[in-house]
Order: sequence, then C-alpha cells, then structure tokens
Amino acid sequence: MKAHDGMYIDGAWRPSAGSDTIEVVNPADEQVIGAVPAGTAEDVDAAVRAARAAFPGWAAVPPAERAARLAALRDALATRREEIAETVTAELGAPLAFSRAVHADVPITVAGSYAELAGSYAFEEKVGTSTVFQEPVGVVGAITPWNYPLHQLVAKVAPALAAGCTVVLKPAEDTPLVAQLFAEAVHTAGLPAGVFNLVTGLGPVAGQALAAHEDVDLVSFTGSTAVGKRIGAVAGAAVKRVALELGGKSANVILPGADLTKAVKIGVANVFANSGQTCSAWTRMLIDADRYEEAVALAGAAAKKYVPGDPHDEGARLGPVVNATQRDRVRGYIERGVAEGARLVAGGPQAPEGRETGYYIAPTVFADVTPEMAIAQEEIFGPVICLMRYQDEDDALRIANGTVYGLAGAVWAEDDATAVAFARRMETGQVDINGGRFNPLAPFGGYKQSGVGRELGAHGLVEYLQTKSLQF
Ligand code: NAP
Ligand code: MG
Repeated sequence: MKAHDGMYIDGAWRPSAGSDTIEVVNPADEQVIGAVPAGTAEDVDAAVRAARAAFPGWAAVPPAERAARLAALRDALATRREEIAETVTAELGAPLAFSRAVHADVPITVAGSYAELAGSYAFEEKVGTSTVFQEPVGVVGAITPWNYPLHQLVAKVAPALAAGCTVVLKPAEDTPLVAQLFAEAVHTAGLPAGVFNLVTGLGPVAGQALAAHEDVDLVSFTGSTAVGKRIGAVAGAAVKRVALELGGKSANVILPGADLTKAVKIGVANVFANSGQTCSAWTRMLIDADRYEEAVALAGAAAKKYVPGDPHDEGARLGPVVNATQRDRVRGYIERGVAEGARLVAGGPQAPEGRETGYYIAPTVFADVTPEMAIAQEEIFGPVICLMRYQDEDDALRIANGTVYGLAGAVWAEDDATAVAFARRMETGQVDINGGRFNPLAPFGGYKQSGVGRELGAHGLVEYLQTKSLQF
C-alpha cells in the first residue's frame, strides 16, 4: 500500500515535527503494509493554525460554491471506489465485497448528500422582526475510529465543510491509509489550502493535543465511551462545542407476531457484518419465551454460514477483527460469558480452524444470557450475539432499555403499527422497523451514554452551525 510520509497541512504534504512512525498491519495475515508519521502536538498546532487562517475565507464562500467543491470531492472519491475498498480491506480486514458496498459506497453517498444540502439548506430565516443567520462554528477538531474508517470521517468532514467550517482530522492509528486517500481526494477536488488538514498519530498524543487545543471551536469524536467522557470533560471545561458518537449495546426486539425466521436471519447478519465491529449493531436479540428455543436453533444454524475467511477471497463473509488487542478483548468476553453461565450455541474463544494467523474470532452465539451479565451490558465489538428471553412486552422493554447505552435497535412485529408503538418506548436514537434499511439522510446518534449530537443529513449539518439573530 502506498503511504505518505508526511501530514496534509495547508494544502500540501509536509514532514512531521517528530520522527516516530506508526506501522499499519493487515489483520488477515499480520504483515506490515505501510507506515505513517506519528504526529506530535507541534503538528497539531501547525494544522490548527492552517485551519484558523483558512476559516474566514471558506466561511465567506457562498453555499452554492461550497456545494460545488463538495460535489467535486464526491466525484474524486467515486473515481477511486475500488482503491478505497482495497485499502479498507487491507488495513481493517473487512471482506472486499463489504468494503465496496459499505466502506466505499456509503461515504461516497454521504459526501454527495452534503453537496446537495450545502446548496439547498436555508442558512437564513425570518423569525418575526428578526433575521436569523446560521453561521459556521469555526475550526473543527475531528477524531475518528477504525471500524468504518472512511464513513466516520466523511460524516464529520462533509457537513463541517458544507457549513463553512474548516477541519483538522486525527484518524485512528489502525486505519490511517484511507484517511490519506481522503486527503488526496480533497486536494483533487480543489478545496482551498487549510480548509481540510490531516494529522496522523496516536490518540493520547495527537488526539489529546487536538481535543485540548485552545483554537479549536468544536470537537467531534467517535469512538469508545471511556475516551469520549474525557474529551467531553476537556471540551466542557473550555466551553467548546462537542459532539460524541460512542458505544452501543442495541436490542433487536422480536415481538410474538413477527416473522421469526427473517428476524433472526437478518439479526445475525447485522451483528456479524464487519466482524461485529459496528457501534449500532443489534448485539442483544430479545425473543419471547414461547419461541425462544426455535430462535436459538435458527441463530445457531445461521452462524455456521459465517465461515471466517481471507477478506480478499470474493466469497468471504467474515474477516478478522482489526488488531491483536481487539482479538484478545473479544475472546476475553467470550470466556467471561461462559464463566457467567451463558449457553454457548456456536463459536467460542478458540481461534477458528485453520485461522491461527490473523486476528480471527469464531462467530459466536450465546443463549440464556441474562441482563446482569457483563456480556449483556458491555460493548464486545466482535462477532458475538447474545440471545435473551423475555416474558411479556413490558419485560422486553425493561431489558431493551436496561443498559447505559441507547444508540440503535430493531423491532419486528406482525405489523408496523405494533412495532412503532414499542419503538417509541425505547430509549435509543434509531430503530429499524420490520427490517427497515439504513437511510444516509436520517439523523444518527445516541440517547444516554451513547453520545451527544447527531450525524448525517440536515441534523448533522446543524451541529456545525451557530445562530445569529438580527432585529429590525
Ligand atoms: P478509542 O481509543 O476510543 O479510539 C477512537 C479514536 O480516539 C482514535 O482515533 C484514537 O486514537 C483516539 N483516542 C484515543 N485516546 C485518545 C485520547 N486520550 N484523546 C484523544 N483521542 C484519543 O477506541 P479504540 O481503542 O480504538 O477501541 C476500543 C473500544 O472502543 C472498542 O472495543 C469498542 O468497544 C469501542 N469503539 C466504539 C466505536 C464506535 O463507533 N462507537 C468505534 C471504535 C471503538 P488511536 O487510534 O491512536 O487509539
Ligand atoms: Mg485506542
């Protein structure tokens, strides 16, 4: 893989102030595929200064012209779709077909959606005797994780640029190559120098310096709840805007009248996609006592189809997880589930057969999971699904709402009205009704400790705006 040995700052690739590098590893075979500079606080400062200098100019660009630049960015990404997919497969380990359809196509769509929104959004409105302007917040510090590496950065950078903000991005250390590719696309699209800047580096060094920088007006973070809490505290102390997109432990509630076969099949696929590394995954499947054993059998059979395989094989459905730490963490949770008394229906903590090299996890199904177990409460972030039994609808709701999280969920019922009535009682930011599909324009974000703020669509744009009222 081609890697830049510099940072993209002020419209050009520049050497880091330090000399440390970060090796990028292919999780399927544990081989080093490239290296990027480990940015320092000095690099972050240079990037923030470039973003600050570019801000007044970019904020003054008419929205229609910002829209044209975003459309060019969308096109630059679309032209490189196959390269994006190959890069994400190489550094994350996602199966190539999934990398094309999700890791490449979703962010291309989202970039396109902000090209349209920048052109159509009402940045000015009349309220009685006032004119209210929506103005860009300023310099944005974006910190992103590795699990949907391009999507998560586009979901911040595209609305920020549409709003008229300028950006400094610190991507995850495990997936910096697709972030470099994105910076090249920004360059191709002809965005003015300093409007977008990239600093690769480690979270506690470059990430922390960015979150704490006094000239950053808004910090947008996606990642673990532990780091998110610290970033929220630092931003709060400095009276900075902050957006946090954190973990989840979402419930897939299958009500008595639902099509059980379909609900279980799609529910299992939802968790095993991207090797279980999805913050919104429906990791807890809730089934009524009458049909519980039937669901367990269906889930066990479904799991057998997810044979761990090399992500470059076109037929592979389940790749490795991103790194050795995550592999050990996920295996630790599987051991914990067994120790807590959950029933292992498929998978287990051992390496899948023939996959001793690479960070592979056997697709794992637990039954008889009860709400107080750690595997029912904590985000595992691997191909592990927990089947839970409920007695009646109120019990199902108590279990569904019984975690600190509230990011996503699903409800299946005999009709939409029944499912909607249940979904309205769930403490969560998104619910898919009877198999409803991902909508790139729908606001995405969490209730409770799943976060603060919303991404995507017009709601995602508003995060990067502040209002000014003029009275006449
Ligand atoms: P993480 O540490 O929260 O990483 C997210 C981003 O924050 C990365 O860019 C990371 O840099 C950076 N970061 C880390 N420490 C920081 C600090 N002190 N200040 C500023 N930035 C910092 O997450 P992780 O370690 O990669 O994953 C751990 C767990 O988090 C997972 O098992 C999963 O449960 C959860 N997670 C959730 C999501 C989600 O979408 N909600 C995404 C990823 C992970 P580095 O890359 O250098 O660490
Ligand atoms: Mg980390």
